[in-house]
Amino acid sequence: LAKQNGRNNYRFFTSEIQSRSARILSLENALRYAHTRGELSLHYQPQISLSDGKIVGVEALIRWNHPDFGMISPVEFIPIAEESGQILLIGEWVMRTAATRMKQWMDMGFPAMSVAVNLSAVQFHHAHLSKLVSTIIDEVKLPPWFLEIELTESAAAQNPLHAIETMNELSEKGIRLSIDDFGTGYSSLSYLKRFKVYKLKIDQSFIRDIGIDPEDREIVKIIIALGKSLGLKTIAEGVETKEQLDFLKENGCDEAQGYYFSEPLNVTDIEALLRAPEIILRKNNSN
Ligand code: C2E
Ligand code: MG
Ligand code: MG
Ligand code: MG
Repeated sequence: LAKQNGRNNYRFFTSEIQSRSARILSLENALRYAHTRGELSLHYQPQISLSDGKIVGVEALIRWNHPDFGMISPVEFIPIAEESGQILLIGEWVMRTAATRMKQWMDMGFPAMSVAVNLSAVQFHHAHLSKLVSTIIDEVKLPPWFLEIELTESAAAQNPLHAIETMNELSEKGIRLSIDDFGTGYSSLSYLKRFKVYKLKIDQSFIRDIGIDPEDREIVKIIIALGKSLGLKTIAEGVETKEQLDFLKENGCDEAQGYYFSEPLNVTDIEALLRAPEIILRKNNSN
């Protein structure tokens, strides 16, 4: 009986693995046509300055709506695109689309703000990243300081020497760098000094339990203090409640982003919000 069970287990696992890799394969295939078929889009989530409640930037977040598979999360398809190398083309599409959109919003008269794009480690360590970024901002005619690049600590840590070089090239061009999911990855404080970083994005896992976990409260305070002493801006990710917001304000965090203010929105909806920013202002100022 045991033997039989064992065999069933084995079979169960192989079929699970088979169907999982079948999905990966078909997603990888479908991804090849995703951007030419118009299945990819960007949503934008506002970033709010806590001192005055103004929208000072947006983060561009990729969305993939496949006719058969439906909406596929970037958490699932970005790793597949990284593995297959497709991330280079997709990442270029993201950067060009986001920069073009921001330039258009500036021309439409919306107040100055930055657009942040997420960069995968694969893109970051690719030889011509800073050239590609320059090409795009020149082509789009977006002043470089309105483009922000988000990178995780682990992405930078994969090849620190190359990372420092690339970050310096980007910042010499005036492009701003944020460390995404700060506090979760492998990072050395000396990197922070050597990297030309502009902003620390406090990971949402620390924000989530601010109300109940004293350790998370301490970690958030320490990151804000670190930012202040190194002259870096701090932004909290995943802010969902008024309590979290109040804690962040009390402790001098510069900016916040999260469902409390707004989910990531499609172009139509974010434009509506940018036209009526009082909603955000009121949320930031309410007691
Ligand atoms: P991330 O850059 O850390 O983005 C934050 C994620 O948190 C987003 O998920 C966002 O929708 C979500 N979020 C925002 N506010 C809240 C909140 O208040 N509560 C909660 N629970 N979640 C919130 P999303 O859009 O599913 O993206 C997931 C990850 O996929 C991103 O994490 C980023 O690592 C990656 N990603 C997204 N777009 C791109 C892209 O264009 N290129 C690359 N390379 N990666 C991307
Ligand atoms: Mg991000
Ligand atoms: Mg993040
Ligand atoms: Mg993340």
